[in-house]
Amino acid sequence: MLEQVLEYNKQFVEKQEYKTFETTKFPNKKCVILTCMDTRLIELLPASMNLKNGDAKIVKSAGAVVSTPFGGIMRSLIVAIYELGADEVFVIGHHDCGMSSINPEAVKKKFVERGITEDTIHTLENAGVNLDDWLRGFDNVTDSVQQSVDQIRNHPLVPNVPVHGLVIDPATGKLDVVDRDEKAVTSSK
Ligand SMILES: [Zn+2]
Repeated sequence: MLEQVLEYNKQFVEKQEYKTFETTKFPNKKCVILTCMDTRLIELLPASMNLKNGDAKIVKSAGAVVSTPFGGIMRSLIVAIYELGADEVFVIGHHDCGMSSINPEAVKKKFVERGITEDTIHTLENAGVNLDDWLRGFDNVTDSVQQSVDQIRNHPLVPNVPVHGLVIDPATGKLDVVDRDEKAVTSSK
């Protein structure tokens, strides 16, 4: 797909189509959203929340899951809060998420089918990488969102900002609140 992308991109820049997207790196609506990488949410999620280019920092992971407290997702949230002026955090999972049906054993089988050796898998596991835990999804999106919300709220480096949990319908864009944080927004500026 790369060639198609580059060809399109040339036109895009030449025709100055970027003009309608001009903004800054600071989120106009002072929020950061952690959501899922699901393809149905690319445009639907911002549209359903009335977010335009420049309005929010959006961090994506498979399943909108934070997983580790000092991994890339948590770091992104921390940077959005401290360096980019996000004063409110939204964790937005969705129904029919691919991470709700993921089977670690099946994925490991696919590793081998795609040429990863059993040896490599054993080496990783012997080195303390628990692939089953690492690949595990969730049974219930509401519980998963709540877990991520709690993890962010209780993180030792997260200041006193509201952290809300929501679930979005990937067909209609309807948002349901899982956990509304009543804490007041205190501006960072
Ligand atoms: Zn998903």
